[in-house]
Amino acid sequence: MSEKVRIRRDIASMSAYTPTTSLDVFAGRLGMDVKDLIKLDANENPFGPSPRVKEALANLQHVHVYPDPESGRLRELLEAYIGVPKEQILCGAGADELIEIILQLFIEPGDVVINTPPTFAMYGFDAPLYHGQVIDVYRREDFSVDVDAIETAARQHSAKLLFLCLPNNPSGNLIDASDIHRLLELPLTVVVDEAYIEFAERESLVSRVGDAGNLIVLRTMSKWAGLAGLRVGYGVFPSALMPQLWKIKQPYNVNLAADIAAQVSLQDVNFLMTRVATLVQQRMRMQIAFAELPMLSPYASQSNFVLNRVLGMSAEAFRDRLARAGIIVRYYNKPRLEDHIRISAGTPEQVDRLLQLLAQIATS
Ligand SMILES: *Cc1c(COP(=O)(O)O)cnc(C)c1O
Repeated sequence: MSEKVRIRRDIASMSAYTPTTSLDVFAGRLGMDVKDLIKLDANENPFGPSPRVKEALANLQHVHVYPDPESGRLRELLEAYIGVPKEQILCGAGADELIEIILQLFIEPGDVVINTPPTFAMYGFDAPLYHGQVIDVYRREDFSVDVDAIETAARQHSAKLLFLCLPNNPSGNLIDASDIHRLLELPLTVVVDEAYIEFAERESLVSRVGDAGNLIVLRTMSKWAGLAGLRVGYGVFPSALMPQLWKIKQPYNVNLAADIAAQVSLQDVNFLMTRVATLVQQRMRMQIAFAELPMLSPYASQSNFVLNRVLGMSAEAFRDRLARAGIIVRYYNKPRLEDHIRISAGTPEQVDRLLQLLAQIATS
């Protein structure tokens, strides 16, 4: 790089991030057809979006005009869906963008963000990019959050933000209501990521945002509504934060296709929820079947995926064995997860194929 080009030194010395392999690349590597692959590595919705979304996108009008910077109609439909006034809702290009907007709003250089790994990677990945200092408070052996340790760390570092994923990705567990209550007593803002709440037997915390004052809830259309490729998520914020958020949000962050697709999905909730119910059934079926296999020890999940400890072989070898048969699952080369894999719930037919393959591996 030329001496004139002076990029941030912390980024120059950062190690590169390895994103997941695309289906095409994967299929090419295996010499298989994309349609024969079963992608169970990213908790996407294997049924895809509502058929009405495909129709709406095929008829998309006014692509040459910028989208509504306020996502007004979408926020009205979200108000009806979650029962919180649209004045407290902000939309983003995925919940991922809202994580960034929150960091931009709160973090001054060196401010502390508490993270509770093993959990969703983006909190720990994004915080340093916005000059935050991440303090990791590891979860217990059963992946429950260590509230005492969080309280200690929060006070010691005067932490500003605490990210909590509920249900947690990748472990699938919830956080006790009494623990949430204790954490909201801390002198910081609690960001609860409910990307998978539609799959859980638990009420969303969105109705608590108004009273708590220091609670932010993130939600997304990526998983339950099958819109991951379009990037649309939203956050529910205390009213006092809204004018500040509108100042810093990029005006056209939710693109037209995403905006329309999300609106149409929210007009087809009953249909989409039948698919959510099917995925929950498949997740329960997987959990029971995995527990009977010698090489897997599953954790109870409240989401659309199951985390497993892999026994008798390395998790990486197990992942590769499934990949050779065209089934893609998630392996983590990370502390506490080296011997684990996460498998997303598939369609009933995909789970049939997965379970057949696992039975073969178990007897070979
Ligand atoms: C998938 C996922 C997201 C990402 O949501 P997008 O709306 O697609 O950006 C956020 N949080 C968690 C925990 C996720 O697993």
